[in-house]
Amino acid sequence: MSILILLLLILIFAFVAWMVYRSFKTSVRYSIPKGTQIYGDLISEGKVLRSSRYALTGKPDKVVMSGRQVIPYEYKTTDSDRPREGHMLQMGVYFIILEEMYPDKIIPYGVLRYREQAFRIDNTPRIKSAVLEIAKQIRGNYGVPVRNHTNSGKCYKCSFKEGCVQSLIR
Ligand code: SF4
Repeated sequence: MSILILLLLILIFAFVAWMVYRSFKTSVRYSIPKGTQIYGDLISEGKVLRSSRYALTGKPDKVVMSGRQVIPYEYKTTDSDRPREGHMLQMGVYFIILEEMYPDKIIPYGVLRYREQAFRIDNTPRIKSAVLEIAKQIRGNYGVPVRNHTNSGKCYKCSFKEGCVQSLIR
């Protein structure tokens, strides 16, 4: 066997090993919810989920029910090596909405998936308070967040649009 073929085989082996390692690394960092999908693009026809108590809306990519657990799942086409703050808040909005929709179920965590890896976001009082505090600031418009865009599509998808005094879709 020539040295070139040997080198090529080593390269192929290294590539396959790297792919296996990467898929393993991804799979151990989160658990894709198993169970019955109760919400998602294909079965919900774009229906927006709402919390009437807090006037929040959201559209998770998927919601799975497994026994007493309800797990939201959000997919981002970008990549990130850690959960981004805005995406965690978005997950917090889903927690609040789903807790209101399913008062007899448990929403222990959500899955935030980026292109290369995914993360488990725990449903904690802290994340929900942060969401409610930001919602309050937006609604009150205490000079805090001022809209920094003119894109009505952003407002359409935004979880705070119901109570936002700066929304472009009213
Ligand atoms: S509704 Fe529009 S302006 Fe208001 S917070 Fe959402 S994206 Fe910003």
